[in-house]
Parts: sequence; structure tokens; C-alpha cells
Amino acid sequence: MEAIKETWERIIVLIKEEMKDAPFNSFIKPLEPVSVEKEKKLVTLKAPNKMTKERIEGRWYNNQIRDSIRDILGPEYDFKLVLPEDVKPAKSVRKTAAVSTKYNGNPINPRYTFNNFVQGKSNHFAAASALAVARGPFETFNPLFIYGGVGLGKTHLICAIANEIMTRMPELDVMYITAETFVNDYISSIRDKTQTEFREKYRHVDVLIVDDIQFLAGKGSSQEEFFHTFDELHTGDRQIIITSDKPPGELQDIQIRLTNRFGWSMTADINPPELETRIAILNKKAENEGLPITPGLMEGIEYIAEHIESNVRDMEGALTRLISHSKLENEEINREYAQRVLKDIIQDNKLRVTPDKIKEAVADRLEVDVKDMESNKRSSNIVYSRRIAMYLCREKIGLPYQRIGELFGGKDHSTVITSCRDIEAAMKVNNELREVIKEIEEQLR
Ligand code: ADP
Ligand code: MG
Repeated sequence: MEAIKETWERIIVLIKEEMKDAPFNSFIKPLEPVSVEKEKKLVTLKAPNKMTKERIEGRWYNNQIRDSIRDILGPEYDFKLVLPEDVKPAKSVRKTAAVSTKYNGNPINPRYTFNNFVQGKSNHFAAASALAVARGPFETFNPLFIYGGVGLGKTHLICAIANEIMTRMPELDVMYITAETFVNDYISSIRDKTQTEFREKYRHVDVLIVDDIQFLAGKGSSQEEFFHTFDELHTGDRQIIITSDKPPGELQDIQIRLTNRFGWSMTADINPPELETRIAILNKKAENEGLPITPGLMEGIEYIAEHIESNVRDMEGALTRLISHSKLENEEINREYAQRVLKDIIQDNKLRVTPDKIKEAVADRLEVDVKDMESNKRSSNIVYSRRIAMYLCREKIGLPYQRIGELFGGKDHSTVITSCRDIEAAMKVNNELREVIKEIEEQLR
């Protein structure tokens, strides 16, 4: 059934509850839904004749219809009645959007909701932007581009948008896909000669959510296809939401015209959570699993939050492991128990390279102060050390340039790019530099 009819059926059920059969059958039943315009928040209904139209407009049925529409579609919706002669034959593409009934994207985890997303300084802006889009798609931030490292909640946030829109505005066609699915789908459509269907599927949704766009890197024809999909949706005022591991300007091997498009977006980054947020996330997770937060479990949670910093998924994995061990061995959780059960995970983590470790190793080898590297001092030895440290942060950890700039006293993102490129170029010709960097790398290991 068409989505709009389906929506109307649900509205009618509510109206019927409040009405006697006779008037319902003579006034409401003959109405036909014509359109639901989400921008205008207006439902257009077709009355079979002038008499019916006037009767409805002049009576309390009017309020009855409006209230039921608001119950289903949202508080600001209204409706208008038209006559058969007012209804032009379908012209807008949006009509086609309503036709697709089968969900075609990747599955959306129903647990990824705003309610389950813990906010902190590190993700506040991204979460607020996501919520704004979920509450008012098309109008607020379009496109919305969320970027950040692995396991920091990008997928969670955009699925929360999808879940929220699907609950609040069921008449909208929402599609969530990973860029990988998009690419695979595109390749199959070429193979099976089903490109028309492919285009129908992606270009006629109301809300398109694409996860991990960096996967398009180096895939020219998929990029081309995505470019046209993006343009068509954008021109048609559909909502587009994208995630990436880097900001638009740093995406590699993706056509400039596409990254330029992403640059039109509202961009929001997600950073690794601070300690309190890490603890809050783990608390929420335990709570969702129905576990009472005993003082012992709290010790375990704090232990994890103190030792795993940069990936929420790893934190959750550690908590799950801790809980299942304690159940299996029938032992109380406390700090020592957590230490024992998580020995291998947390040690691995200790060996991980962090910006701080890089700064220390560089400072050590080149005999400068970490504080100076983080300052704006321009003496040659300090500039040299700072550049090497920036380069290693990029090489070893893959941090976004902007983030690296922040770590070195708020340097501009273009300064960081230049530094990294200079070091890279110099390494090709300068044996001594290569040697120094090798020694620092060894120390990091
Ligand atoms: P990404 O897509 O950025 O790699 P995910 O969205 O897959 O990360 O998040 C990894 C896991 O961490 C998920 O289980 C997610 O629910 C959880 N998670 C991440 N950030 C938060 C948060 N702020 N609050 C609650 N859970 C979070
Ligand atoms: Mg993800």
C-alpha cells in the first residue's frame, strides 16, 4: 500500500473512535488522501463533492480530523480539503517517494536511540545537531556530516536519527546504508543491468543516511553515481546525512566535486569521550542490561574507563567480558577482579601509541620540552621537533589534521598539512632525518 494511504488509514482509525457510524460513513469514509507535505505540515484530502466539503468544514468533524492527524503526524500539522477538480494529475517526484513500501537499506539497530546515547563535551555538538535533524528534517541542517574516529558513536547517532524519524514521521521514506552497501549495490546493478531500479531506489527516498563515506575512496564510478544521487536528493530538498572518519576536506581519493558538496554540510565532529563521559556510558550500558550498579561493579567500570580511552566499542567489549566472567565464575566484581579478567585487553591498550607518547618520545630524542612543542615558539629546533611529532601523529595514529593542530597549541589545519608534507618530502632526501624518526619509532614500540 502507498505510504500516504497507510498513514491515512491510521488517522481514520482514530477519527472513527470518536464518531458514530452514520456520519463517519457519509463524511469521513469518502475522503481520499491526496498528499502529505511535510514542509508545510499539511495534509490534503479530497472530498467527493462540494456538499461533503462544506459539511466537514462547518462542523466539529473538522477538529476531529485535525486532532487525529496531529496524533499521528505531529502537533503542527493541519489539513485542507479540495474537490476532485482541484487535484491535478501527479507531478512531483515526491509522490514516487511515497510508493516504495519495502525497506531496502541496511538494518537499523533499534537500540541505537538518542535516549541510549550519553552526551559529553566530546560529542555534544554532534548529538545536538543529530537531534535537531531528527526533530526537523529538511529544515535544520541539510546535509549533516558527522565525522570522528572508530567506535565513537557515529553509527549510533545516525541510526538514532533514523529511528526517531521513523517513529515520529512514519510517512517519510528513510534509508540507512553503509557506503560499502552502496558500492556493492551499484556494482551488482551494472552486472545485472538493473541500474534503473538502483536509481529508483536511492533517488526517491526522503531521508538518505550514508555511513562511512570514506569507503568510496578510489572507487571512481561509485563516486560518480553517488554524486548524482546526492545532487538529485539535494535539489529535491531531501535530507542527507553522512558519516566519515575524517572531515570533508581530508578525505583522500574522493573527487573534489564530491568533497566540495560535503563541504556544504553542517559538519560536526565526535572526539574521544572524557573520563566522566566514559564512566556514564558504561553505567548506561550496565543499566540497560538490567544490572544493579553495586560498588564493586562501579570499581570495575572505573577501571575500564580509566584504561580504555579512545574507543567506546572497546570499552563496551571490556565491560561485557567482565560481567560474563563474573557470572560464569560466580565471583564479585571489584577493581582487582577487573584487573585480572581484563589483563590482556588493557595491556594491549597500554602499548598503544598516543599523541602524548609521541610528544614525549620526540622531546626525549631531540632534547626539547613538550611544553615548547605545544607552544607557538619558533626557534628552529622546536619547530623541527613539532613538525616531526605532528607527522608521527598523522602516520602512527591517523589523527585528523585539525585534531593534530589542536594538540600542538591550536595550530591551523593547513599548517599541520604543510608540516606533514614537508617532513615526508625531507625524509626522501635526508638520511639523518630518516634515522631520527626511526629511533623515535623504536622508542614508541
Ligand atoms: P562508530 O560508528 O563511530 O565506529 P558506533 O556508533 O558503532 O561507532 O559505536 C560503537 C559502540 O559504542 C556502539 O555500541 C555504541 O552504542 C556505543 N557508543 C558510542 N558512543 C556512545 C555514547 N556516547 N553513548 C552510548 N553508547 C555509545
Ligand atoms: Mg560506524
